[in-house]
Amino acid sequence: MAGEASSSRQKRQRLVEEEGENGGGDAAVARSGTLVDLDLFYCPVCSDSLTIPIFRCDNGHIACSSCCTKMKNVCPDCGDSIGDFRCLIMEKILEAFDVGRGFLFDLHLLDCPVCSNALTAPIFECDSGHIACSSCCKKQRYKCTACSLPIGNYRCRIMERLVEAIFIPCPNAKHGCREMFYYGKKLVHQKECIFAPCYCPALGCNYSGLYKDLYSHYETNHKCGKKHFRSRHDADAWVHVDDKILVLQEYRDGPLVVIQCFQKPEGVSVTVNCIAPSAPGVGEFSFLLSYSREGEYWALGSDKMNRIHKVSFQAPEKYFITVPMSDFKMKIRINRITEEIENEV
Ligand SMILES: [Zn+2]
Ligand SMILES: [Zn+2]
Ligand SMILES: [Zn+2]
Ligand SMILES: [Zn+2]
Ligand SMILES: [Zn+2]
Ligand SMILES: [Zn+2]
Repeated sequence: MAGEASSSRQKRQRLVEEEGENGGGDAAVARSGTLVDLDLFYCPVCSDSLTIPIFRCDNGHIACSSCCTKMKNVCPDCGDSIGDFRCLIMEKILEAFDVGRGFLFDLHLLDCPVCSNALTAPIFECDSGHIACSSCCKKQRYKCTACSLPIGNYRCRIMERLVEAIFIPCPNAKHGCREMFYYGKKLVHQKECIFAPCYCPALGCNYSGLYKDLYSHYETNHKCGKKHFRSRHDADAWVHVDDKILVLQEYRDGPLVVIQCFQKPEGVSVTVNCIAPSAPGVGEFSFLLSYSREGEYWALGSDKMNRIHKVSFQAPEKYFITVPMSDFKMKIRINRITEEIENEV
């Protein structure tokens, strides 16, 4: 942790709060986190509270405007010039931060403005002060999406420290998750949080809940035309392109596997996904979906079935096969990867 060794000032701990993810509406649960390094809100040169404007050098050091003047626009850390470029994101954060109460009113300032993912180091800044994560810089060919200036040369080090100094509980805390982590690790955790809500794939059903609850919900409420599968046994996977979706549930109230067809100009794309959180030990399957008739054969398989929280009716960008027909009397063999549960079958 970068801030730890560098500062002799006493560490202060404050709370950072945010409104519920969906911004109000139904019983928004306030999310709170702990800022473990309040020193970030002090000018590193004069140690006074930071005030707007805040300037930065090309190496990512910051200083208040009176320090810039006193130092004749020479960065005391690296000797580069400082005073031309504002650190706008830090100014925005300062405006959204109530130092007295220790609240940051807008945790979304810690998200990449281009892709909306939680920012993690390295974070880059253009000369106009816009920021972006490294993968967005690359995707946008190092051109700022807001002002078209080059972006990707200058690191925004103060933001890199800030995202590592804010400790938040998991957004699924209301569903029972007790994990706490640095804001920058939000995406990593959210991807594998076992408490992430999963959505019922039945058409017209709006149920969502923990994966186990969803599986029993499906078993109980969607008996009509229901299909089951057993690990290491072939199951019929008959789906007509007009149906678009076939749901198979592991016998009896296990994970839900969804086979979907998407009509495209070049044929029909078929995908297979499991509705499950991406946590270890849940819904981990391999599969082989195959079709054979009159000498025609094709198959789609994977030793790790993709897991999703919610069915999407957008044509898939990966994990699919495209076939030139609409009659799908396919077979599917799904194998549980985890031994332990297989023994129960
Ligand atoms: Zn200063
Ligand atoms: Zn510097
Ligand atoms: Zn981004
Ligand atoms: Zn820009
Ligand atoms: Zn969690
Ligand atoms: Zn349902």
